[in-house]
Amino acid sequence: MGLQHSVWQAEKLLFKPCTPDHDAIPIIYAFPNTYAVGITSLGYQHIWANLASRPEVNVCRWFTDLHEPLPPEVELVGFSFSWELDYGNILQALSALAVPHRSSDRTSSHPLVFGGGAVLTANPEPFADWFDFILLGDGEDLLGNVLCAYQTVRYAPRHEKLLALAQVSGVYVPSLFCVTYADATGNIQSITPVSAEVPATVQKQTYKGNVLSHSSVVTPHAAWSDIFMVEVVRSCPEMCRFCLASYLTLPFRPADLEAGLMPAIRQGLTVTNRLGLLGASITQHPEFESLLDWLDQPAFDSVRLSLASVRTNTLTQRLCSILARHDSRSVTVAVESGSERLRQIINKKLSNAEIYQAIANAQAGGLQGIKFYGMVGVPYETDADLADTVEMLRTAKKTAPKLKIAFGCSTFVPKAHTPWQWQGVSPSAEKKLQLLQKQLGKLGIEFRPENYRDSVVQALISRGDRRLNAVLTLAYNYAQAEGKTEPSLGMFKRAFKELAQTVPPLDWYVFRTWDTTEVLPWAHLRTALSPELLQKHHQIAFSYSDSVPLPPAV
Ligand code: SF4
Repeated sequence: MGLQHSVWQAEKLLFKPCTPDHDAIPIIYAFPNTYAVGITSLGYQHIWANLASRPEVNVCRWFTDLHEPLPPEVELVGFSFSWELDYGNILQALSALAVPHRSSDRTSSHPLVFGGGAVLTANPEPFADWFDFILLGDGEDLLGNVLCAYQTVRYAPRHEKLLALAQVSGVYVPSLFCVTYADATGNIQSITPVSAEVPATVQKQTYKGNVLSHSSVVTPHAAWSDIFMVEVVRSCPEMCRFCLASYLTLPFRPADLEAGLMPAIRQGLTVTNRLGLLGASITQHPEFESLLDWLDQPAFDSVRLSLASVRTNTLTQRLCSILARHDSRSVTVAVESGSERLRQIINKKLSNAEIYQAIANAQAGGLQGIKFYGMVGVPYETDADLADTVEMLRTAKKTAPKLKIAFGCSTFVPKAHTPWQWQGVSPSAEKKLQLLQKQLGKLGIEFRPENYRDSVVQALISRGDRRLNAVLTLAYNYAQAEGKTEPSLGMFKRAFKELAQTVPPLDWYVFRTWDTTEVLPWAHLRTALSPELLQKHHQIAFSYSDSVPLPPAV
């Protein structure tokens, strides 16, 4: 209790929570991980502040290690879900709140369980059985619309509530859709609403305002201690073919400088001197130079500045020197590969010459290090492409010998709603990671690979359908029995073995390249680009697989 008290006491709030009305809706808003992790999520903070600013709501926060006093007779339990393997913590939270895990086992005496966030917006199907309703897309307007609809059916039977919520654009009620399969382990045949009253597709919501999110609370107990975060852009216009951060959140939207960013930063810097600029591609904000000029004033000399990501060919010497003067030692840029051919396939519009210029700028600007981010297992990747990556890093090292160079590397994981959703994981990716480890060690470049087995689990979940729920549950039970917080790949494999004949095998989900005519698990859930346009981008990407001149961007 003492710990909880000191954690809440240490929070510096940047908004004024409302006093709830006497008949306010009691809501638990949970993050399925610790306080330190959850409170560092800008998405979680943003939605919590939105709820806490409404007198019609009585919200309390819940994390795996602490929570605010729970209101009696909770009506809604919400989860912000941004990391797939946190799913076990959702099940634990439901158990702790005495709520059945499966939506179909809940009665009118139980709260409605809802979720939102990147994992569910991309592909909610593996988790569909646990949620009564799911919010797809940006929460800004969606949350108000949901609460409004809920008020009208607040005292109605459970089924009526769900039916009413399903009428709200962006609200997905999984139990109101029926999925049929060719056979127990075969392809999906159809996904249809259970009645004519349910819209046949659900459209992800896109917030159209020009003021994006920023921290509503600053605390020393966050994973990024005492940081004030501000969202500079949402989505990314580059549309690299694998990239969920771009495709899932399109269109690209920059925050308004005068109306949004500057006032937010001014307010944030009254309680801390640590500033984080967030967004998938910050330097592509059309007024990024003006923002930089403004941040470069003497009044902000003591500000510690960090940037989430920088597009490689926008890493100027000036930006690097401003970062260095504001306590940043290094910068991260995603290059994906050292092979220009592979970058054409990916739609990454970047040349090796631009990479060398960026690294020279980083050194001249006074940074101490640079972290490149790359990927193996990209479709059509050859040994020659890997050799190009090693060569590119060798040249980079020669270009900026004083800079500490690291190369972070993941395995390509297919994600829903991207042009490469149909592609399987490359089984040779693990060997490629080992090869890079060996070769880069000789060059004195620090290699930071992501665990291949984790990528396999990620791919499984990102391409899963509702049948996967049984596998997730069993793997969670195995992890619980062994006192582990997350199931391992071995536990998933055991679960598949036990459930053989009732679900397709792991390889079917992870490694198989799907036919573009198959019904996808998320076929009824729509994002900014139509499935036809995604297929077009898919075809364009692979038309460059034989090495051709730089294609026109789409
Ligand atoms: S530049 Fe980065 S954020 Fe943008 S689409 Fe490519 S990988 Fe995604």
